[in-house]
Amino acid sequence: MHEASIVQEIIDITTEQAKQNNAHKVLEVEITVGAGAMIETDLLSGAFDVMKNETMLEDATLKINKVNLKLHCLNCDKISESDRMVSMECPYCHSFETIIESGREMLINKIIAE
Ligand SMILES: [Zn+2]
Repeated sequence: MHEASIVQEIIDITTEQAKQNNAHKVLEVEITVGAGAMIETDLLSGAFDVMKNETMLEDATLKINKVNLKLHCLNCDKISESDRMVSMECPYCHSFETIIESGREMLINKIIAE
């Protein structure tokens, strides 16, 4: 499962950060997931709840901010937004000559630890 490896990464990074700050326990992790990152956030939350056991994140909650995918069309120069990765087609002129401006990222925004 793709989501499980992402959760493992979140746990690893968060644990590392918490240790560097002499924290004992992580209370909250806030992440941003782009619509184009191809991550099922429900699966991500589910995996987190299982995998956090017996780590510093045991009592932590995972907050997920979803951001839209932004597609820049090279043909008509318009930017379209979508909450899902549907296709690379521009909804205005139906060209496939598009590039993803943003929305593919998975970032850790904030870690609250004590
Ligand atoms: Zn277009």
